[in-house]
Amino acid sequence: MPGSNSPANPFETAKQQIDIVADLIGLNGGIREVLKHPKRELTVNFPVRLDDGSFRVFTGYRVQYNMARGPTKGGIRYHPQVSLDEVRALAAWMTWKCAVVNIPYGGAKGGVICDPKRMSPGELERLTRRYASEIASIIGPEVDIPAPDVYTDSQTMAWIMDTYSMQKGYSVPGVVTGKPISLGGSEGRAEATGRGCSYVVREAAKDAGIRVKGATVAVQGFGNAGSVAANLLHDEQGATIVAASDTKGGIYKADGFNPHAVEEYKHKTGSVVGFPGSKAISNEELLETKADVLIPAALENQITGKNADRVQAKLVAEAANGPTLPEADKILFQKKIPVLPDVLANAGGVTVSYFEWAQDIQGFYWPLAQVNERLEQVMVRSYADVRKAAQERGVHNRTAAYVVAIQRVVDAIRARGFYP
Ligand code: NAD
Repeated sequence: MPGSNSPANPFETAKQQIDIVADLIGLNGGIREVLKHPKRELTVNFPVRLDDGSFRVFTGYRVQYNMARGPTKGGIRYHPQVSLDEVRALAAWMTWKCAVVNIPYGGAKGGVICDPKRMSPGELERLTRRYASEIASIIGPEVDIPAPDVYTDSQTMAWIMDTYSMQKGYSVPGVVTGKPISLGGSEGRAEATGRGCSYVVREAAKDAGIRVKGATVAVQGFGNAGSVAANLLHDEQGATIVAASDTKGGIYKADGFNPHAVEEYKHKTGSVVGFPGSKAISNEELLETKADVLIPAALENQITGKNADRVQAKLVAEAANGPTLPEADKILFQKKIPVLPDVLANAGGVTVSYFEWAQDIQGFYWPLAQVNERLEQVMVRSYADVRKAAQERGVHNRTAAYVVAIQRVVDAIRARGFYP
């Protein structure tokens, strides 16, 4: 599952998932093998000058998993635990995420083994620029387009765009997405993940017989994805937000709170905990809260074999990557609680990244309303595709999403044929 940090090797997990779907859709040995191998992998070891004048060699990776459907797309992660197998798995999952929402990309991922919390802005800039130079030969708007991931942000993307452009001798905004608006970033990108999530919740609620107006919602992880989803479900769909949490703990209010006020309170105090009029709850209690919709929007591995049976929600939407373990999936499926899997529920982010790239290469920028309208179309259509596959095959939404995605990649591979 995307983002899983369970002790299992994440790339082995990714390959097992491919086998499960390959069995379901009857794939033969050759194509199955292609799907289980990254197309291109680059490891780079490079020196960076630290603030004290010394040099340290860092190791970074860029893996382009499959480009049958178009240029590859995926974030760059800065973390001490980055490994080649993790980057391979994340690149595979990006391939499926882009295919689920049917945007014309393959999947990629990059990472640098480093501890960004212990590095100065100057050190991070030098690391980023050198890493960008090292991978410059395999990225580009027509080849592979990086984006932010864990501990990288719009500033990191601005440095990569500048470094790549310096090497080319002209500005190339389409080489990365998630850029500042001043450099060709897209309107609506910052809230795209939460917005996309709110659209699929609306669609799934209709099928689950839940009336979103007045429905109760609990959000674990009141950060970018979680708070935007809560705000939009509240403002645009009339949902009642009854629980929210962050690393310091959670809050509950049976008749609901204004998520904007909670956001402001968190901004001021550093946490949602202590929000006036709310009752304190733990993150574990939040997952088991009586609410119609549960949105895990924090970390991976939250809903497990131990607590899945106590989930009371009627619908779970994974704004986070990998919040539900496979054993929990089975329990929720048995309990008939539909789960909107991460590759669908948080794909609004990569979808608006695609819009950003499309705008950059045309040099023609869209107003916010157009970005949101097109995002809505993509999310509604993608939800319908996944739902149809789940019903046709009698499987849960996660397997259905993988079936839809892998079938699309296989169709592209077959249509192209094997070169030469
Ligand atoms: P963020 O840092 O803005 O927010 C994360 C929130 O989760 C913070 O409020 C943090 O306090 C809280 N949190 C962390 N650990 C927690 C814990 N143990 N219990 C409860 N809360 C905890 O990050 P984000 O960008 O909103 O990302 C959240 C999740 O969404 C991640 O899994 C990320 O991979 C996924 N995601 C985000 C995007 C995006 O565009 N932002 C796109 C795709 C997927």
